[in-house]
Amino acid sequence: MARANEEAAAALQEYAELFALTGGDAFRVRSYQKAAKAIAGFPEDISATDVRAVPGVGEAIAKKMEEFLQRGSFRQLDDLRGRVPEGVRRLTRVPTLGPKTAIMLFDDYGIDSPAALGEAITAGRLDGVKGLGPKTLANLLKGVEQLEQSGRRVHIGVAMSLAEQVMASLSAERVAYAGSLRRMKDTIGDVDILAVAPESIMEEFRAQPYVAEVIAAGDKKTSVRTTSGVQVDLRVVPAASWGAAMQYFTGSKEHNVAIREIAVKKGWKLSEYGLFEGERVIASESEEEIYAALGMQYVPPPMREDGGEVRAALRGELPEPVRLDDLRGDLHTHTDLTDGIASLEDMVAAASARGYSYYAVTDHAPDLTMQRMTLDKALAQRERIAKLQSSYPGMRLLHGTELNIAPDGSVDWPAEVLRGFDVCVASVHSHFGMPRDEMTRRFITACENPYVDIIGHPTTRKIGKREPVDADWDAVFRAAARTGTAMEIDSYPDRSDLPSDLVRLAKHHGVRFSIDSDSHAIPHLAHQRFGVGVAQRAWLTTDDVINTWPLERLQAFLRP
Ligand SMILES: [Zn+2]
Ligand SMILES: [Zn+2]
Repeated sequence: MARANEEAAAALQEYAELFALTGGDAFRVRSYQKAAKAIAGFPEDISATDVRAVPGVGEAIAKKMEEFLQRGSFRQLDDLRGRVPEGVRRLTRVPTLGPKTAIMLFDDYGIDSPAALGEAITAGRLDGVKGLGPKTLANLLKGVEQLEQSGRRVHIGVAMSLAEQVMASLSAERVAYAGSLRRMKDTIGDVDILAVAPESIMEEFRAQPYVAEVIAAGDKKTSVRTTSGVQVDLRVVPAASWGAAMQYFTGSKEHNVAIREIAVKKGWKLSEYGLFEGERVIASESEEEIYAALGMQYVPPPMREDGGEVRAALRGELPEPVRLDDLRGDLHTHTDLTDGIASLEDMVAAASARGYSYYAVTDHAPDLTMQRMTLDKALAQRERIAKLQSSYPGMRLLHGTELNIAPDGSVDWPAEVLRGFDVCVASVHSHFGMPRDEMTRRFITACENPYVDIIGHPTTRKIGKREPVDADWDAVFRAAARTGTAMEIDSYPDRSDLPSDLVRLAKHHGVRFSIDSDSHAIPHLAHQRFGVGVAQRAWLTTDDVINTWPLERLQAFLRP
């Protein structure tokens, strides 16, 4: 969701930069930048609500944003774009390059892109230029590299909404995404789309408003760079080889090498067109037929990483991975009592519409001081939940909390308060940089607290923004298994936390998991599909995931 937010925020950010570049007032620049950040982080789609609800958005900015939502730009932005050359604007995307230097490089040296700047520095063309010492040049080169790297991969939430936008924009008989997105990796390089469609689809694709640049145009394959910077490859495939093409372009490469070897041993050939014996087609229309013909179980895409799945599938020992519709509830969600934006009543109604058997409300606890939580507020919320319960006979409401794990491993409230909650998630929200052994002890102490049921977003990473904390995960997971503390798979797509490799390690130690949305708004409830992808990549079954269990079994786990 919230593609409109990202695009509007990017436009406002660009406006702030151009405004600064043309000598605009620094105070106003800052207020535009702040508003852009608030819009990007606003949990509701601004095209569906009043943008004035976003903190820091006053009347003047709101008007610009409304014009942007209507026509994809606003008058003041168009004006400034006209006054600043494109080449200078491209250059200012380098994080370590200021506007004055960008103008100088463009005017005096004809440098009009980050790539050209990188080349000029590497070739020594800027050595000895006044104001650009060796340290500055090294710093600029680092900025160019940073820019290249950040443009290369996006988290799955961005890639998925782009893929869905592309698929909805094309008139095809059949269309689907393949590649690492279909394997549910947490970060994605390019988006691969396959279609059964007439050749005119390529022209239709190139003309879409989300296309910023056509990289390669052909009858069978077209590659574009989208306005979000992500590359999308569209391939047209024959209907008869749909399954073979999906299998081939879903990958992973390593999985496909292993599969092709099995075909070769049988004297067959497997390609993107089908499984063949000489000229005879053995299977091609569906992936299921291809795997069956090779004498193996069907391998769900998230498991296709050459991590033992081929051997297991040949022996019929591939486990049935947990699926989205196995989830019976959500154990980590917020309301507007803390930093959520929807009311308790609205969140609960939305959860009920998803068909849950149980639903936990886990607003933040007092130690996260900016949320201004108090025990009185928590108890008042408990009463509201008890009253609401009678309207939802089919769904059990659980009153929970998201505690803060302090550096010493303690949490916000004493035992007599914690005892009153149905479920306690405990998360690290501060002191991310603690040394490994202290961080490990911090988590273990939290696991040993008998009232802590789930460790929330354990590594605390934010993809592309914050590195994971450093801990001895073997030791943490052993403690979690011993104390019956679940590890969370936080499904928020810029978190995907735990990541799948750590989920696999934790499972090895006997840990259970909770796949939660960590919702701060109603649309976030749907993020659980990303958490399920992480779980499938780690081969989790329903037995591993506590929120697939019936209520009685879950309650026995939470309060043994
Ligand atoms: Zn949290
Ligand atoms: Zn949370």
